[in-house]
Amino acid sequence: MWFRQLFDAESSTYTYLLAARAGGEALIIDPVREQLPQYLRLIRELGLKLVIAVDTHTHADHVTALGALRDATACATWMGEQSQAECVSARFRDGESLRVDGLRLRALYTPGHTDESYSLVMDDRVFTGDALLIRGSGRTDFQNGDAHAAYDSLFNKLLKLPDETLVYPGHDYKGWTVSSIGEERRWNPRLQVASAAEYASLMAALKLPTPKLMDIAIPANLACGRMP
Ligand code: FE
Repeated sequence: MWFRQLFDAESSTYTYLLAARAGGEALIIDPVREQLPQYLRLIRELGLKLVIAVDTHTHADHVTALGALRDATACATWMGEQSQAECVSARFRDGESLRVDGLRLRALYTPGHTDESYSLVMDDRVFTGDALLIRGSGRTDFQNGDAHAAYDSLFNKLLKLPDETLVYPGHDYKGWTVSSIGEERRWNPRLQVASAAEYASLMAALKLPTPKLMDIAIPANLACGRMP
């Protein structure tokens, strides 16, 4: 399997390129518009054909490359069924699988950071978007975020995966690249709570600044990265 973890330093976003085999079909998760040339180069150099570009949720901190990748490669663009982005070509539902060549990714609805956030489960790993970060979790204070829903997604969905499942998040700000469900259960400070109410008060106390790109990124991302 080809598996590449790519990084956008400006927004600390991880993008994942997956393909079952050299010369085969590929899927990309959470691409960043500014990194389009790098993705196209890597796809070309590995001899891959991009067939699906997927966003785990509508991002507030960077502009998606979904539209640009569709223009460049004619790939399908996918988001979850709750997404308000009218430009996507297809939507998945909770439990549905995305299939590319020999790869199968199961969509797991994990709202809380936004009300349309999904994680994608594949074999030994899960791509968590911003639902679960390494030693952290996605903020819940805008974009229909809901700390109680986030608690449910974390404790009743993601933490139900086997402990050895690798966790590949949508962002990291400290240099972490990969973790596991068991490691996060034990060491993630956000997960050391006894109830949804306790999680909600922990999240409410964060008082985070507004992402600097938010007013640009959200409208652009609802149009798959084209500026309104
Ligand atoms: Fe996000």
